[in-house]
Amino acid sequence: MGANSKSAVVTGGASGIGQATAILLAQNGYRVWVGDLQMRDETGSLFDELGIQFRRCDVRYEEQVVDLIANAARPNGHVDVLVNNAGVGLVKPITEVAAAEWDLCLDTNLKAAFLTSKHAIPHMLPQGGSIVNVASNAGLLPRAHDPVYSISKAALVALTKSLALCHSVDKIRVNCVCPGPVGDTGMINADIAAAEDPAAFRQALIDASPLARASQRMISPQEIAETVLYLASESSQMITGTAIAIDGGKSLGVPPIATAR
Ligand code: NAD
Repeated sequence: MGANSKSAVVTGGASGIGQATAILLAQNGYRVWVGDLQMRDETGSLFDELGIQFRRCDVRYEEQVVDLIANAARPNGHVDVLVNNAGVGLVKPITEVAAAEWDLCLDTNLKAAFLTSKHAIPHMLPQGGSIVNVASNAGLLPRAHDPVYSISKAALVALTKSLALCHSVDKIRVNCVCPGPVGDTGMINADIAAAEDPAAFRQALIDASPLARASQRMISPQEIAETVLYLASESSQMITGTAIAIDGGKSLGVPPIATAR
Protein backbone atom coordinates (compact mmCIF):
# COMPACT_ATOMS: atom_id res chain seq x y z
CA MET A 1 0.00 0.00 0.00
CA GLY A 2 1.19 3.53 -0.78
CA ALA A 3 1.47 6.32 1.78
CA ASN A 4 -2.00 7.85 1.73
CA SER A 5 -4.26 8.41 4.68
CA LYS A 6 -7.29 9.40 2.63
CA SER A 7 -10.65 7.73 3.02
CA ALA A 8 -12.82 6.54 0.15
CA VAL A 9 -16.40 5.28 0.05
CA VAL A 10 -17.34 3.01 -2.86
CA THR A 11 -20.99 2.04 -3.30
CA GLY A 12 -21.76 -1.25 -5.04
CA GLY A 13 -18.19 -2.32 -4.33
CA ALA A 14 -18.88 -6.02 -3.78
CA SER A 15 -18.88 -6.83 -7.50
CA GLY A 16 -17.67 -5.80 -10.95
CA ILE A 17 -16.44 -2.25 -11.53
CA GLY A 18 -16.99 -1.24 -7.90
CA GLN A 19 -14.98 -4.17 -6.60
CA ALA A 20 -12.08 -3.44 -8.98
CA THR A 21 -12.22 0.21 -7.88
CA ALA A 22 -12.28 -0.57 -4.15
CA ILE A 23 -9.29 -2.90 -4.56
CA LEU A 24 -7.29 -0.43 -6.65
CA LEU A 25 -7.97 2.44 -4.24
CA ALA A 26 -6.92 0.24 -1.29
CA GLN A 27 -3.77 -0.86 -3.14
CA ASN A 28 -2.98 2.84 -3.53
CA GLY A 29 -3.27 3.46 0.18
CA TYR A 30 -6.83 4.73 0.55
CA ARG A 31 -8.83 3.57 3.56
CA VAL A 32 -11.80 2.10 1.71
CA TRP A 33 -15.40 1.58 2.86
CA VAL A 34 -17.60 -0.46 0.58
CA GLY A 35 -21.38 -0.17 0.86
CA ASP A 36 -23.39 -2.84 -0.91
CA LEU A 37 -26.44 -5.05 -0.47
CA GLN A 38 -24.31 -8.05 0.40
CA MET A 39 -20.72 -9.21 0.43
CA ARG A 40 -19.66 -11.98 -1.93
CA ASP A 41 -17.88 -14.85 -0.14
CA GLU A 42 -15.00 -14.97 -2.62
CA THR A 43 -14.26 -11.27 -2.03
CA GLY A 44 -14.10 -11.40 1.76
CA SER A 45 -10.53 -12.53 2.29
CA LEU A 46 -9.08 -10.13 -0.28
CA PHE A 47 -10.99 -7.24 1.31
CA ASP A 48 -9.65 -8.29 4.73
CA GLU A 49 -6.12 -8.44 3.38
CA LEU A 50 -6.41 -4.91 1.97
CA GLY A 51 -8.21 -3.52 5.02
CA ILE A 52 -11.36 -2.76 3.02
CA GLN A 53 -14.32 -2.31 5.37
CA PHE A 54 -17.69 -3.64 4.25
CA ARG A 55 -20.95 -2.10 5.38
CA ARG A 56 -24.31 -3.50 4.35
CA CYS A 57 -26.10 -0.58 2.71
CA ASP A 58 -29.02 -0.22 0.36
CA VAL A 59 -28.14 3.11 -1.22
CA ARG A 60 -31.78 3.91 -1.96
CA TYR A 61 -32.46 4.56 1.72
CA GLU A 62 -31.21 7.71 3.40
CA GLU A 63 -30.71 6.24 6.88
CA GLN A 64 -28.49 3.47 5.47
CA VAL A 65 -26.45 6.00 3.50
CA VAL A 66 -26.04 8.12 6.65
CA ASP A 67 -24.72 5.04 8.47
CA LEU A 68 -22.23 4.21 5.68
CA ILE A 69 -20.86 7.76 5.48
CA ALA A 70 -20.73 8.17 9.27
CA ASN A 71 -18.62 5.02 9.57
CA ALA A 72 -16.21 6.12 6.88
CA ALA A 73 -15.87 9.53 8.53
CA ARG A 74 -15.39 8.15 12.05
CA PRO A 75 -11.55 8.08 12.21
CA ASN A 76 -10.96 11.82 11.60
CA GLY A 77 -14.26 13.32 10.44
CA HIS A 78 -13.12 13.31 6.81
CA VAL A 79 -14.44 11.64 3.70
CA ASP A 80 -12.01 12.38 0.88
CA VAL A 81 -13.37 10.32 -2.00
CA LEU A 82 -16.87 9.13 -2.85
CA VAL A 83 -17.45 6.73 -5.73
CA ASN A 84 -21.12 6.36 -6.64
CA ASN A 85 -20.99 3.08 -8.49
CA ALA A 86 -24.01 1.03 -7.30
CA GLY A 87 -26.35 0.53 -10.21
CA VAL A 88 -28.97 -1.68 -11.81
CA GLY A 89 -29.87 -2.24 -15.44
CA LEU A 90 -33.36 -2.21 -16.97
CA VAL A 91 -33.62 -3.65 -20.46
CA LYS A 92 -37.28 -3.10 -21.48
CA PRO A 93 -39.32 -0.93 -23.82
CA ILE A 94 -41.09 1.85 -21.92
CA THR A 95 -44.49 0.26 -22.54
CA GLU A 96 -43.45 -2.73 -20.44
CA VAL A 97 -41.82 -0.88 -17.56
CA ALA A 98 -43.75 -1.10 -14.28
CA ALA A 99 -43.75 2.00 -12.11
CA ALA A 100 -41.88 0.03 -9.42
CA GLU A 101 -39.14 -0.84 -11.95
CA TRP A 102 -38.79 2.83 -12.87
CA ASP A 103 -38.41 3.64 -9.15
CA LEU A 104 -35.83 0.89 -8.58
CA CYS A 105 -33.73 2.05 -11.54
CA LEU A 106 -33.94 5.79 -10.83
CA ASP A 107 -33.54 5.41 -7.06
CA THR A 108 -30.45 3.19 -7.39
CA ASN A 109 -28.77 4.93 -10.31
CA LEU A 110 -29.63 8.54 -9.52
CA LYS A 111 -31.27 9.25 -6.16
CA ALA A 112 -28.54 7.31 -4.34
CA ALA A 113 -25.88 9.67 -5.71
CA PHE A 114 -27.90 12.60 -4.38
CA LEU A 115 -28.15 10.94 -0.95
CA THR A 116 -24.48 9.98 -0.68
CA SER A 117 -23.35 13.40 -1.94
CA LYS A 118 -25.69 15.16 0.48
CA HIS A 119 -24.17 13.32 3.43
CA ALA A 120 -20.53 13.06 2.29
CA ILE A 121 -20.03 16.69 1.21
CA PRO A 122 -20.14 18.05 4.80
CA HIS A 123 -17.23 15.68 5.57
CA MET A 124 -15.31 17.00 2.53
CA LEU A 125 -15.75 20.70 3.27
CA PRO A 126 -12.70 21.22 5.49
CA GLN A 127 -10.19 19.61 3.15
CA GLY A 128 -11.85 19.35 -0.28
CA GLY A 129 -12.62 16.06 -1.97
CA SER A 130 -13.46 14.13 -5.08
CA ILE A 131 -16.75 12.54 -6.10
CA VAL A 132 -16.72 10.12 -9.02
CA ASN A 133 -20.03 8.90 -10.40
CA VAL A 134 -20.16 5.77 -12.52
CA ALA A 135 -22.59 6.71 -15.28
CA SER A 136 -22.59 4.95 -18.68
CA ASN A 137 -22.23 5.50 -22.40
CA ALA A 138 -26.06 5.37 -22.17
CA GLY A 139 -25.86 8.65 -20.27
CA LEU A 140 -24.14 10.32 -23.23
CA LEU A 141 -26.19 8.81 -26.05
CA PRO A 142 -29.56 7.17 -25.31
CA ARG A 143 -30.05 3.54 -26.32
CA ALA A 144 -33.15 2.00 -27.82
CA HIS A 145 -33.11 -1.17 -25.74
CA ASP A 146 -32.98 0.41 -22.27
CA PRO A 147 -34.60 3.86 -22.24
CA VAL A 148 -35.18 4.11 -18.48
CA TYR A 149 -31.59 3.10 -17.70
CA SER A 150 -30.41 5.69 -20.27
CA ILE A 151 -32.54 8.37 -18.58
CA SER A 152 -31.11 7.50 -15.16
CA LYS A 153 -27.53 7.77 -16.42
CA ALA A 154 -28.12 10.99 -18.41
CA ALA A 155 -29.53 12.52 -15.23
CA LEU A 156 -26.49 11.27 -13.30
CA VAL A 157 -24.25 13.12 -15.79
CA ALA A 158 -26.38 16.24 -15.19
CA LEU A 159 -26.09 15.81 -11.41
CA THR A 160 -22.32 15.50 -11.81
CA LYS A 161 -22.06 18.80 -13.69
CA SER A 162 -24.42 20.67 -11.34
CA LEU A 163 -22.58 19.57 -8.21
CA ALA A 164 -19.21 20.28 -9.84
CA LEU A 165 -20.27 23.90 -10.36
CA CYS A 166 -21.88 24.30 -6.94
CA HIS A 167 -18.94 22.88 -4.98
CA SER A 168 -15.94 24.22 -6.93
CA VAL A 169 -15.75 26.91 -4.25
CA ASP A 170 -15.20 24.14 -1.68
CA LYS A 171 -12.52 22.44 -3.81
CA ILE A 172 -14.81 19.43 -4.10
CA ARG A 173 -14.45 18.02 -7.59
CA VAL A 174 -17.27 16.02 -9.16
CA ASN A 175 -16.70 13.94 -12.29
CA CYS A 176 -18.18 10.89 -13.89
CA VAL A 177 -17.02 8.00 -16.00
CA CYS A 178 -19.22 6.66 -18.79
CA PRO A 179 -18.19 3.05 -19.41
CA GLY A 180 -19.38 0.19 -21.52
CA PRO A 181 -19.41 -2.56 -22.50
CA VAL A 182 -17.55 -3.82 -19.43
CA GLY A 183 -17.14 -7.58 -19.22
CA ASP A 184 -17.04 -9.82 -16.14
CA THR A 185 -19.55 -7.82 -14.12
CA GLY A 186 -22.78 -8.94 -12.53
CA MET A 187 -24.84 -6.59 -14.66
CA ILE A 188 -23.44 -7.54 -18.05
CA ASN A 189 -23.37 -11.25 -17.22
CA ALA A 190 -27.05 -11.07 -16.27
CA ASP A 191 -27.93 -9.26 -19.51
CA ILE A 192 -26.02 -11.83 -21.56
CA ALA A 193 -27.58 -14.77 -19.72
CA ALA A 194 -31.08 -13.35 -20.25
CA ALA A 195 -30.62 -12.95 -24.01
CA GLU A 196 -32.27 -15.36 -26.40
CA ASP A 197 -28.89 -16.12 -27.96
CA PRO A 198 -26.27 -15.23 -25.31
CA ALA A 199 -23.24 -15.64 -27.60
CA ALA A 200 -24.79 -13.46 -30.31
CA PHE A 201 -25.81 -10.84 -27.74
CA ARG A 202 -22.28 -10.74 -26.30
CA GLN A 203 -20.86 -10.31 -29.79
CA ALA A 204 -23.38 -7.53 -30.52
CA LEU A 205 -22.21 -5.69 -27.38
CA ILE A 206 -18.63 -5.91 -28.59
CA ASP A 207 -19.55 -4.87 -32.13
CA ALA A 208 -21.39 -1.76 -30.91
CA SER A 209 -18.15 -0.25 -29.57
CA PRO A 210 -15.58 0.53 -32.28
CA LEU A 211 -12.47 -0.19 -30.18
CA ALA A 212 -14.04 -3.22 -28.49
CA ARG A 213 -14.81 -4.57 -31.93
CA ALA A 214 -11.31 -3.82 -33.22
CA SER A 215 -9.85 -5.68 -30.20
CA GLN A 216 -12.59 -8.35 -30.08
CA ARG A 217 -12.98 -7.94 -26.34
CA MET A 218 -14.99 -6.02 -23.80
CA ILE A 219 -13.54 -3.33 -21.58
CA SER A 220 -12.33 -4.65 -18.21
CA PRO A 221 -13.47 -3.46 -14.76
CA GLN A 222 -9.80 -2.68 -14.07
CA GLU A 223 -9.71 -0.25 -17.01
CA ILE A 224 -12.60 1.69 -15.46
CA ALA A 225 -11.04 1.56 -11.99
CA GLU A 226 -7.80 3.12 -13.31
CA THR A 227 -9.69 6.22 -14.46
CA VAL A 228 -11.66 6.42 -11.21
CA LEU A 229 -8.36 6.31 -9.30
CA TYR A 230 -7.02 9.14 -11.47
CA LEU A 231 -10.14 11.26 -10.89
CA ALA A 232 -9.93 10.56 -7.14
CA SER A 233 -6.29 11.55 -6.96
CA GLU A 234 -4.49 14.86 -6.85
CA SER A 235 -3.20 14.21 -10.37
CA SER A 236 -6.59 15.47 -11.56
CA GLN A 237 -6.76 18.53 -9.28
CA MET A 238 -8.03 20.88 -12.00
CA ILE A 239 -10.56 18.48 -13.53
CA THR A 240 -14.19 18.83 -12.54
CA GLY A 241 -17.59 18.38 -14.20
CA THR A 242 -16.27 16.03 -16.87
CA ALA A 243 -17.97 12.92 -18.22
CA ILE A 244 -15.18 10.65 -19.43
CA ALA A 245 -16.30 8.05 -21.94
CA ILE A 246 -14.48 4.74 -21.44
CA ASP A 247 -16.48 3.00 -24.10
CA GLY A 248 -14.12 2.36 -26.98
CA GLY A 249 -15.83 5.14 -28.94
CA LYS A 250 -19.33 3.71 -28.56
CA SER A 251 -20.90 7.11 -27.87
CA LEU A 252 -19.06 8.89 -30.70
CA GLY A 253 -21.63 8.21 -33.39
CA VAL A 254 -22.36 5.65 -36.07
CA PRO A 255 -19.45 3.16 -36.20
CA PRO A 256 -17.77 2.09 -39.44
CA ILE A 257 -19.70 -0.68 -41.21
CA ALA A 258 -18.32 -4.16 -40.61
CA THR A 259 -16.47 -4.53 -43.91
CA ALA A 260 -14.97 -1.01 -44.04
CA ARG A 261 -11.69 -0.04 -42.41
P1 NAD B 1 -22.39 -5.36 -10.96
O1 NAD B 1 -23.77 -5.90 -10.94
O2 NAD B 1 -21.26 -6.29 -10.97
O3 NAD B 1 -22.20 -4.29 -9.80
C1 NAD B 1 -23.24 -3.49 -9.30
C2 NAD B 1 -23.18 -3.51 -7.79
O4 NAD B 1 -24.16 -2.57 -7.30
C3 NAD B 1 -23.52 -4.89 -7.20
O5 NAD B 1 -22.52 -5.29 -6.26
C4 NAD B 1 -24.86 -4.67 -6.55
O6 NAD B 1 -25.09 -5.49 -5.40
C5 NAD B 1 -24.78 -3.20 -6.18
N1 NAD B 1 -26.10 -2.62 -5.93
C6 NAD B 1 -27.20 -2.70 -6.73
N2 NAD B 1 -28.24 -2.10 -6.12
C7 NAD B 1 -27.78 -1.62 -4.92
C8 NAD B 1 -28.38 -0.92 -3.85
N3 NAD B 1 -29.69 -0.58 -3.87
N4 NAD B 1 -27.62 -0.59 -2.79
C9 NAD B 1 -26.31 -0.94 -2.75
N5 NAD B 1 -25.68 -1.60 -3.74
C10 NAD B 1 -26.43 -1.95 -4.81
O7 NAD B 1 -22.35 -4.49 -12.30
P2 NAD B 1 -21.27 -3.44 -12.85
O8 NAD B 1 -21.34 -3.56 -14.32
O9 NAD B 1 -19.97 -3.54 -12.18
O10 NAD B 1 -22.00 -2.07 -12.49
C11 NAD B 1 -21.36 -1.03 -11.75
C12 NAD B 1 -21.80 0.31 -12.30
O11 NAD B 1 -21.29 0.43 -13.63
C13 NAD B 1 -23.32 0.48 -12.41
O12 NAD B 1 -23.68 1.79 -12.00
C14 NAD B 1 -23.59 0.30 -13.89
O13 NAD B 1 -24.73 0.99 -14.30
C15 NAD B 1 -22.32 0.90 -14.48
N6 NAD B 1 -22.04 0.49 -15.85
C16 NAD B 1 -21.74 -0.80 -16.18
C17 NAD B 1 -21.46 -1.12 -17.51
C18 NAD B 1 -21.11 -2.51 -17.96
O14 NAD B 1 -20.96 -2.70 -19.18
N7 NAD B 1 -20.94 -3.48 -17.09
C19 NAD B 1 -21.51 -0.12 -18.49
C20 NAD B 1 -21.81 1.17 -18.12
C21 NAD B 1 -22.06 1.47 -16.79
